[in-house]
Amino acid sequence: MFPQGKTKALTLSYDDGVEQDRRLVEILNRYHLKATFNLNSGIQTGANTWVNKDTGGQEVLIKRMNVRGLAELYAGHELAVHSLTHPRLQNLDEATIRNELEQDKLNLERIFGTRVCGMAYPYGTYNDLVVKTVAVCGLRYGRGVISTYSFDIPGDLLVYQPTCHHADGRLLELAEEFIRLKSDKPQVFYLWGHSYEFDTGHNWQVIEEFCRLMANREDIYYATNAQALLGT
Ligand SMILES: [Zn+2]
Repeated sequence: MFPQGKTKALTLSYDDGVEQDRRLVEILNRYHLKATFNLNSGIQTGANTWVNKDTGGQEVLIKRMNVRGLAELYAGHELAVHSLTHPRLQNLDEATIRNELEQDKLNLERIFGTRVCGMAYPYGTYNDLVVKTVAVCGLRYGRGVISTYSFDIPGDLLVYQPTCHHADGRLLELAEEFIRLKSDKPQVFYLWGHSYEFDTGHNWQVIEEFCRLMANREDIYYATNAQALLGT
C-alpha cells in the first residue's frame, strides 16, 4: 500500500540523459509528477551524440547532457542505472556486465549524492546472467521495454515490464482506465520512453495531455520508480 492508504501510483521512466530531458522535467515539475531517469554515466557528455530520423524523415541530432547541473535539473526525481556505456549486456562476460552496472551505480551515487537502487536495461534486453548480476550489484528492480498494458506489480521486479510507451496509441485510453480504477491491491501505471522521441515524433503534446489528465488526483500517488515498486 502506498502513503495515505492509496492503492494507485503513477511513475515515469526516461532513458539516456539527453538534452530533451530539460523540457520533460519542466513539464513533470509543473504537474507535480515524479520520474526516474536512467543514465549512462560513462558517456554522460555532450560529446556523445547520434542522429535519428523524425516522422518526416528529417535527421535530428540527439545529444546527451554534460554532467554539471544535472543534480539541480533532476532534483526531486530518481536517478537509476542504465549501464556505463549502453552496450547489449547479454553479449558481455560476467565481469564486464558487473563493471557496466556497478560502476554506473557508484558514479551516479557520487554525482547525485543519493542511493541508487534500480536500473533500466539498455535496449530493454537481458539474459539470466545479466539479471543475476543486477541483483549482485545491489539493484532491486530492472525495467524492460515490453508493454504489458497492465497495472499489476509482478513478483520479480528484476524483470519488470512497463505499462506502455508514451507513443502507444492506447496511452490516453489506459490513463482513463487507471483514473476510473478502484482497487484493494497496489496498482502502478508505469510509463517509459526517451525524451528525444518527443522531438523526433513531434508529439510533445502527448506527454503534456497525459500529465494534465493524470495530475492532481487525490487517489493517485505520484512516485518515482523506487517509490512505486519498492516503497522507498
Ligand atoms: Zn537507452
